[in-house]
Amino acid sequence: MTKNNWTHWDYLKKYNIQDTEIMIPALNFMINHNVQYGIELLGFVSLSSYACAMKYAMAYEGFSIEGNYNQKDESPLFEMTEEYWQKKCDGYVRQDQAKKLNTDDNVSMVHYEFYKYTFENGVCALCQTRFHKYGRFRPTLDRKENNKPHTPENCQPCCWRCNTYKSHHDEKLTRLNIQLDNFSRLNNLPTNIVREHEKTYHLLRDSITGGLSNVLHRRNVKGETKINKFFWNQEKKCYEDRDTENIVTHVCGIDFNSLYPSCYSSAPHNFIKMMGYKDNKFFMPGSVIGEIEDKDRIMRIINCGKNTKYLYAVSVKGYIPEDKLNKAANFPPII
Ligand SMILES: [Zn+2]
Repeated sequence: MTKNNWTHWDYLKKYNIQDTEIMIPALNFMINHNVQYGIELLGFVSLSSYACAMKYAMAYEGFSIEGNYNQKDESPLFEMTEEYWQKKCDGYVRQDQAKKLNTDDNVSMVHYEFYKYTFENGVCALCQTRFHKYGRFRPTLDRKENNKPHTPENCQPCCWRCNTYKSHHDEKLTRLNIQLDNFSRLNNLPTNIVREHEKTYHLLRDSITGGLSNVLHRRNVKGETKINKFFWNQEKKCYEDRDTENIVTHVCGIDFNSLYPSCYSSAPHNFIKMMGYKDNKFFMPGSVIGEIEDKDRIMRIINCGKNTKYLYAVSVKGYIPEDKLNKAANFPPII
């Protein structure tokens, strides 16, 4: 076959192969490069999520399910009173009765001295942490078999954190979750917001509008695309975005969302000079360490003026009259 008598089909085949063949070595390189971190390249939809996966693969490199990642908790240790134990026992009876279990042999005031000693001197059966008065390490009883009542034989002392993790999962999976949680806290890696910090979840979630990013134009062409602005529609009681007469002259940043700061968190760069960030590095929050409602303490933290490893999110009540909404729509107050 000479070039002169090629059909359209021949052309299609030749150029299809020519256009795609050059990608194969590059893709193979990327696939092999990722395999060493246990990441499957084609499982990720964007380069940033792939970079995130690689970052976490590296961050957890030294992790072992057998490691000791317990941290010292400075909060006061647990002290049990008879009143506390009575309430606990009553609660367990109600819980078991609701499941139609026989509660005759349940833990009761007879066992007070035993559990007082256990909770004040012993450790959690799953994570070996001492019991604390408040927070994640307060004591609970974990039932070894969930279909049986709270009898002394069926119960083991367990901190609130481990008990919540365990729920109905198996013991090994629970252990893995706890170890991962300890490891990430010890190394300041991001963790999920747990039920204990539900308030923080709502504080952050309610402040997120739209989604990950606020995209007004998917495509911006220099000299062509009009710049949009939000306007408050008095009648419909909602914001709408409208074109202005201003036209894009430069594109100085594209596709910025928090996946990128997450990828580059703690990597130093000369551009990073913001107040509060040490050594030209910026950080993503690692985990929630507490919620404060005492106003004096809040003001002391905000005004301390020092670089600190703690970041904080605050909720501020503000009011903008309806006739001033358009002034704040495009640059809402940032505090
Ligand atoms: Zn525990």
